[in-house]
Amino acid sequence: MDDILTINTGSSSIKFSLYRDERPLLKGEISAIGGESRVKILSGDGSILLDDGADIRGFREGAAFIAGWLKDRGYSRIRAVGYRIVHGGVRYREHCPLTEELISYLKAISCLAPEHLPQAVEVMEEFSSHLPDVQAVACFDTAFHRDLPEESRVYAIPFGFYREGIMRYGFHGLSYEYVTEELSREGIPLDRVIIAHLGHGASMAAIRDGRCVDTTMGFTPTAGLVMTTRCGDMDPGVVLHLLREKGLSVDDLNRLLNHRSGLLGVSGRTDDVRKLLAMEGEDERAALAIRVFCHSARRFIGALTAVLGGLSTLVFTAGIGENSPQIRERVLEGLGFLGIRLDRERNLANERVISTGESMVRVMVMGTDEECMIARHTSRIIKERR
Ligand code: ADP
Repeated sequence: MDDILTINTGSSSIKFSLYRDERPLLKGEISAIGGESRVKILSGDGSILLDDGADIRGFREGAAFIAGWLKDRGYSRIRAVGYRIVHGGVRYREHCPLTEELISYLKAISCLAPEHLPQAVEVMEEFSSHLPDVQAVACFDTAFHRDLPEESRVYAIPFGFYREGIMRYGFHGLSYEYVTEELSREGIPLDRVIIAHLGHGASMAAIRDGRCVDTTMGFTPTAGLVMTTRCGDMDPGVVLHLLREKGLSVDDLNRLLNHRSGLLGVSGRTDDVRKLLAMEGEDERAALAIRVFCHSARRFIGALTAVLGGLSTLVFTAGIGENSPQIRERVLEGLGFLGIRLDRERNLANERVISTGESMVRVMVMGTDEECMIARHTSRIIKERR
């Protein structure tokens, strides 16, 4: 009956949850850290415990706020803290107890995820000072992809770079783990499965016999699918051209490719699929942005199906994947040749299975829960240590 705290540090937010026996007692988020920050905390049944502006200027301050709030509210049975870490580098391929050595390694590889790792380290250090006797576990988004075969992992640049760690890592691993566990619990074979995590960031994973054999994100989460504000795969020559001819700095390029591209970049309007769908009738660029997004997703489904040598189950998950029947239908347009038959009514109703009885491929819609996955790993790892 001891509680597990999960911490998910984003580029400007800290999400946290407190779990007891795999059930959330509460879920909270500090958003817009360093800007017009807000704190929202909900109880497990969804009632609002706190929803207010807060002047939180940095990540350490955010972590201190959460630790203080939990203490004031009498949550004194925290047995372990599980952290989501976006990148484990070449050294950390498995979720593991948090150690001094791991923190030093994360500091050393911060350049691999400069918008996430430095903040995550600050948050872990701050929590450790508030909860010194509580065990801590690190859960990596890259761990799910640990078995990628070399032909998928290696970039075709001089091999010395691979030895330095420049390779495909893949991300969204905690989401993929949650979905694959749910599929297993339902007895659905993990023989040839594609999971499409379509959220603010978007990626796909190809799973053969329970193992990830290919994924769309790469060395960083910028690669692969066209996303809400990230460009996805693109000729690296474009980057060279922008550097050479437009005189962009590295920071400018980062902003351009990660924050001003994707749906936002093409439409010039918004990165929100719902708004783009509402305006596509009158706005050609909004319509084009959606076509580019869906084309990109469709082409990766084709590519990953080829890698798997067929497809038995396709799962849509995350904000867009779970909630947008229009996007799912358009992504699947023309994929009848793979044996996919969409049931339009089930799709419109966001049902769990949205393919027809005749479909050769089971197409599903599932919620994902990265926090729950962190809690499960954390609980398992501290039990193993006992
Ligand atoms: P992340 O965890 O990557 O921040 P989420 O999985 O929460 O993202 O997904 C957020 C995305 O989902 C946003 O781009 C949002 O516009 C989109 N989204 C949420 N609900 C819907 C909906 N009903 N239709 C289309 N897109 C939606």
